[in-house]
Amino acid sequence: MHAAWRRRERRKTALCGAAGFLLTLGIGATFLQDNFHAAPSAGHMQGRTPEEAYERVEYEPAASWRRRQATMPVAKGSQRLPASLLSTKPAEAFPSFDRAVLPVTAIPNWGAMRTPDAWERTYGQMTRADFVPVPRYDIATLTQPTVLLLKNREKNVGALTAKLFYSTRFFGAYDLDAGEFSGIHPGVDIKLALDTPIGAIGGGRVYRVAKDRNMGLHVIIEHRIPDEGTLYSLYGHLGSVSVEEGEDIEPGTVIGTVGMTGQSTAPHLHLQLDRGRETPHKRFWPTGMLTPAEAERYTVNPIVFIATHGTEAVAKVRSTARAS
Ligand SMILES: [Zn+2]
Repeated sequence: MHAAWRRRERRKTALCGAAGFLLTLGIGATFLQDNFHAAPSAGHMQGRTPEEAYERVEYEPAASWRRRQATMPVAKGSQRLPASLLSTKPAEAFPSFDRAVLPVTAIPNWGAMRTPDAWERTYGQMTRADFVPVPRYDIATLTQPTVLLLKNREKNVGALTAKLFYSTRFFGAYDLDAGEFSGIHPGVDIKLALDTPIGAIGGGRVYRVAKDRNMGLHVIIEHRIPDEGTLYSLYGHLGSVSVEEGEDIEPGTVIGTVGMTGQSTAPHLHLQLDRGRETPHKRFWPTGMLTPAEAERYTVNPIVFIATHGTEAVAKVRSTARAS
């Protein structure tokens, strides 16, 4: 059954016109590519409502809650929660964001893999020697023409791995050589092996676990970041999910595994980080090209965000604060 599915997915890739490039690169027709050529359907709102997600939280006496609500801090940029949520889940109990981490700690060295037998292996079939540290999201490297890199393939394994891993840039077109803001795709697609465990990019609470035609099985986590407001991280095309709506999580908590559910032609993670703008939160998907300033209103480059809110970045801010 799996093989039949994969054949079908290969045909889909060929149909969307990427096959020529893929064969050149030797990564084959299974190369990942989202197929979001159309606006998303309303199907992503399927699944439990936030109210239902909070159902199992026990009530506290109303008078005591009202007293505490009066002194409750409201994060900048966040929307007021509906009364039904406030009465059951005090905001002061919301888990700390703590720090940002990448969703994986190491990635397959895609640029060194030359045959489908090598790059189609699942996470469990790869060995330690197949993995390298997560490459930097460096636009200068990522936009080097692939054809030039392939002329000296041995020397350029690192750059090829980075280009394949960050297979779409933030608002990039579905083209490995494209830069940012050449397409309408918010977030980034990162190429990973099937079944790779995915960690949450920061502490927060699972806002939604749902499945739809485009994003497939996905998880959305609400993060409340001091002085910055509420952000929602989205992990799309998952194969399995290991958290429940309403669950509190820490940075790096495994939320599920890489799959190819929804509009996905090869295993990869769609990672998106949206601003909390309305209640209930709806994941952002533009219907046309945006300028960087327009995009900034709705969503954030998740890779840049992680780089500027990670352990080192947090330590630097704290040491600066101590020094002043
Ligand atoms: Zn995507």
